[in-house]
Amino acid sequence: MSILCPECNGHALFDESDRCKHCTDGKFDLTGCPGMYVSGYGVLCSLSNAYEFGILPDSGGYMDQAAWFIHALEYLTFEKNKAVKKERPDVGKGRIQA
Ligand SMILES: [Zn+2]
Repeated sequence: MSILCPECNGHALFDESDRCKHCTDGKFDLTGCPGMYVSGYGVLCSLSNAYEFGILPDSGGYMDQAAWFIHALEYLTFEKNKAVKKERPDVGKGRIQA
């Protein structure tokens, strides 16, 4: 099974001399269980969901959390907002039609 390469987003070439090392012509071959590619993200997604309800992994406030968690949370939030914007491009534009 092939999917769009997540590294180059299916472009295969970053520029004339820099070819994506993760795919062939923008397609990435899944040769095993997809879970083996994302196994560490499951826990991170659970922590991110808990954060949305005000629950943090370590005791203390936001600034007491591990740097890796804060960076991962920023990345997941960015990716989530990007996906929402792609699915619903009018969200957040705030236009009110009279
Ligand atoms: Zn690629």
